[in-house]
Amino acid sequence: MTCFDYQAFRQQFPLLQNQLNDQPLIYFDNAATTQKPRQVLDCYQSYYQEANANVHRASHQLSARATQLFEQARVKVQKFINARAVQEIIWTKGATESINLIAHSWGLSHLQPDDEIILSHAEHHANIVPWQLVAERTGAKIKVVTLDEEGRLNLTSLKAQLSSKTRIISVAHISNVLGRINPIEEVIALAKTVGAISIIDGAQAIAHMELDVQRLDCDFYLFSAHKMFGPTGVGVLYGKQTLLENMSPYQSGGEMIKTVSFSGTSFNTLPFKFEAGTPNIAGISAFGATIDFIQGHSRPLMADYEGLLLSSLLSGLDKIRGVELISKGTPDIPVVAFTISGHHNHDIAAALDSFGIAVRSGHHCAMPLMEYLNLDGCIRVSLAPYNSQEEVEHFIEVLNKVVAGYNDANPSNSLLVNNNASDVLITLFENTKGWDQRHREIMMLGKQLKRMPKELRNEQSLISGCESLAWLSSNKNDQLEYSFTADSDAKVIRGLLVIVLAAYNHKTAEQILAFDIHHYFDRLGLIQHLSPSRGNGLLAIVDKILAIARKASI
Ligand code: PMP
Repeated sequence: MTCFDYQAFRQQFPLLQNQLNDQPLIYFDNAATTQKPRQVLDCYQSYYQEANANVHRASHQLSARATQLFEQARVKVQKFINARAVQEIIWTKGATESINLIAHSWGLSHLQPDDEIILSHAEHHANIVPWQLVAERTGAKIKVVTLDEEGRLNLTSLKAQLSSKTRIISVAHISNVLGRINPIEEVIALAKTVGAISIIDGAQAIAHMELDVQRLDCDFYLFSAHKMFGPTGVGVLYGKQTLLENMSPYQSGGEMIKTVSFSGTSFNTLPFKFEAGTPNIAGISAFGATIDFIQGHSRPLMADYEGLLLSSLLSGLDKIRGVELISKGTPDIPVVAFTISGHHNHDIAAALDSFGIAVRSGHHCAMPLMEYLNLDGCIRVSLAPYNSQEEVEHFIEVLNKVVAGYNDANPSNSLLVNNNASDVLITLFENTKGWDQRHREIMMLGKQLKRMPKELRNEQSLISGCESLAWLSSNKNDQLEYSFTADSDAKVIRGLLVIVLAAYNHKTAEQILAFDIHHYFDRLGLIQHLSPSRGNGLLAIVDKILAIARKASI
């Protein structure tokens, strides 16, 4: 039996050959976006170097070349998903825009007050919010289907929600958190029994399984190129031709018209009716190359290989104390979400990042799912065929270390009692090498911070703009010097709080306002390494202290 040659596959991805902060990069955030192979990057660049012109409209050769690449990509997608006609493939900028297109063009003109839209608890925000907006404008209602223990859409619950008022059922083929293939064949058949349209969000499925929209017989299917090794800013909406023909345009302008006159405008034929303005021609050409790339590999072999990685990952996680998978059993694709008891998921993700391992933590754009599962958030590891067994083993080893290392907290606030705390920290950080060591120091500092009394952790002390919950309160002594106390539910934020408090404690309002905090962060080597949200969180803490000082100095 031939097996999947992951090394040859991986070799084609230039970014994966790089180091990150002097360590090999382990990229386990593939459900968010995948890396791009050379073939796709080359096509993107060569489009601009050899074929750049606007599509469809001009009579010159360059435009013909651009149009050919653009339309060839559409035919490739049509064949890739086995759509009946090329007119059924609409270019969008991603799965999100595809859903918005249906919500506006079909939803706004077909929904009446009290009509029902059925979604599931596991939907991505992209398949919830557009429906909420449409429901608000039309008076339609949203009904939500529960999940079974393994995280699949529960058909009994769907049957109970179905009624003659159901007009739309819109669900994910695979949830971006649970990694389970939903029984969409049954969902589509049930939609037909009540005359509702079926919409399948294939954003996660498309990279992991073969698709045949004619066999599925759904009304709409949509996905983004960037989750299947293609460029960002390119998406597909597949829709049945009869439905698309009867829908009004989503956006309007050039390209989507046949004739325009102040006495009236007529619209272009499919698919152009839905493609107003100049499209992402480079991205779409490169998406054509992406499909060639994928078809150059055996998808069943890739899926088998992903299955092997997944079972190593699950058996490794099983041995780590406190790990709880958020759904039972083995996911159908290598997307695994879990929590670790006693640890904030952002702490774990930040610690892994310091070892060059990229995973995702948080709500994963599925806040209603977190609410349904009664979770604040979780950690998600998502794999692709360029990942290796060695990477999975290394990840498990590091995660074990991280979990074991955080269990010896002994909070004392000792550093913050010191008047020269900021100098102590500068010396400490100047002696660290690399981001991983600095990260470890931040986590150690987090341990020093005493928990703030519960009654002080309230609305007033809450720091807004921080990714995790964080609180700050202040006291002034007779010399008008401030002492701040702070807390957070994430250890990494607790560490950052110590760093900020070290700069501001035991200072008067004037001294606080005069202190050059950006220079201080620079000397600590912090800002450029913090994630944008966490970096902003750090600045939110600073802003809150400066606001207190400004108020006092007026
Ligand atoms: N649906 C699902 C299931 C997703 O995972 C995502 C992306 N995380 C989306 C929709 C939205 O995709 P995009 O951001 O590419 O529009």
